Amino acid sequence: MLGLMQDWPLLLHRIIDHAAIHHGTRPVITRSVEGPIVETNYAQIRARALKVAQRLERDGVTLGDRVATLAWNTWRHLECWYGILGVGAIYHTVNPRLFPDQIAWIINHAEDKVMMLDITFVPLMEKLADRLPSIERYIVLTDAAHMPQTTLKNAVSYEEWLAQADGDFAWKQFDENTAAGMCYTSGTTGEPKGVVYSHRSNTLHAFMAALPDSKNLRATDVCLPVVPFFHANGWSLAFSTPMVGAALVLPGARMDGASIYELLDKYKVSFTAAVPTVWLMLLQDLEKTGAKLPYLKRVVIGGSACPRAMTKAFEDNYGVEVIHAWGMTEMSPLGSLCTMKPEYAQLTGEARLDIQQKQGHPPFGVEMKITDDDGKALPWDGKTFGRLKVRGPAVAKAYFKNKDNILDKEGFFDTGDVATIDQYGYMQVTDRAKDVIKSGGEWISSIDLENLAVGHPKVAEAAVIGVTHPKWDERPLLIIVLKKGETATKDDILGFMQGKIARWWLPDDVVFVEDIPHTATGKIQKTTLRKQFRDYRLPT
Ligand code: AMP
Repeated sequence: MLGLMQDWPLLLHRIIDHAAIHHGTRPVITRSVEGPIVETNYAQIRARALKVAQRLERDGVTLGDRVATLAWNTWRHLECWYGILGVGAIYHTVNPRLFPDQIAWIINHAEDKVMMLDITFVPLMEKLADRLPSIERYIVLTDAAHMPQTTLKNAVSYEEWLAQADGDFAWKQFDENTAAGMCYTSGTTGEPKGVVYSHRSNTLHAFMAALPDSKNLRATDVCLPVVPFFHANGWSLAFSTPMVGAALVLPGARMDGASIYELLDKYKVSFTAAVPTVWLMLLQDLEKTGAKLPYLKRVVIGGSACPRAMTKAFEDNYGVEVIHAWGMTEMSPLGSLCTMKPEYAQLTGEARLDIQQKQGHPPFGVEMKITDDDGKALPWDGKTFGRLKVRGPAVAKAYFKNKDNILDKEGFFDTGDVATIDQYGYMQVTDRAKDVIKSGGEWISSIDLENLAVGHPKVAEAAVIGVTHPKWDERPLLIIVLKKGETATKDDILGFMQGKIARWWLPDDVVFVEDIPHTATGKIQKTTLRKQFRDYRLPT
């Protein structure tokens, strides 16, 4: 017998409808790419998204077409997402921090039909446009007054283009499994792979993301997504925030510490999210100015492991709760968040920080297991580590235009991460499978060493790679960037680490560098570091 409930497909445009009806006047504030702060609200966002859909349809964009966006977090970008998916097309976020060749490769692979881009990226696209036959039109996200002279095909300013629509348009209706969005994985090895989200997966994922033990979002929150929409589906914030009717503050192109602080303070932001490197900049800026964060309640930190010292600084110095989160593009992206279950809720001080080093427990909708290389499930004892595999309605089952089977026989996707899971279901990432250091048959976690090293007061950033060793196969090399104006020696750093980890985990050498290379999504680029230190010989 089937249930007798209504058929109400989980279509993403219903989220902006809900926000417009029930939270219509809630502010959406942007530091615009042109400079000034622009304020709008969910009712206006919806009205203009309808025009985007209407106007795209007039340009010949229909169900299943890909529309690229190359843009910062702004109200216009948000309108574009809803307009694109509301006509049945697919928003394809392109990461401007990728190499130009990768950008061209991705656009050609996705066969994007239209591109919507910020003025910032017009020069970049002019250089690439000859190689992008599928793009029929470029829509520059600005008004006539700021529209640059450009050779881009059929280029038009967004505001002029939009003004040609009256908004008398109804969202398209289709199956909830229809594709809505697309994001390519950062692809540190091999070619980038296209992850395709559906209306259903993104909607269910937005529910998961907003839950109390996830981001705990509500209508009284003021939410600042520093994480760009082009990183891993924007961590769902373009959906989960309007879903609950929280106000939005969008940083545009400026994500340095001072600019972020200004938004946090001026607009009384209560919730924010980004990768650790962003928070490193903010915390350094706060240290310098002595400013406080009286309005901020929660910060989600993910994308790479959140260093213990960062959690401590936010919580002890600024009274801000840190939610360490883990996920990946293939998971829409949330996989787990480190909020406190009753078993850990009473912990304080260092014991609490120990737990917060973990990436946390999955919300409903993510199933996890750890296995050995043969696929045998390993125990949840917080010590045994194995390959982390996941399954759920917002986890990828295949890549775009790729026939490879990426699931095991139980339907789990191998994340490529190595992790432990403890008795209460808290997962901790030890490493990317390819970054773990294999010393004398045992594994050393590069993440643990990095976290420890950045706890040193003079260290700004740390990376650990395995270097070939004649006796032990590999030994850890610690690469350090010091804070501006600071000096330290190898012995200072190793002395600080001694006693806090097993003796045989202690790096064999420490080298100081000006900076550490990052990927386009802000992760430490270990492949580049390994190349850089290929000829390096350990002193041991
Ligand atoms: P991406 O798809 O670019 O978001 O990359 C996903 C990968 O980032 C994961 O498979 C992890 O290796 C890494 N990652 C994400 N969040 C964390 C975290 N909190 N701690 C450690 N690694 C993380």
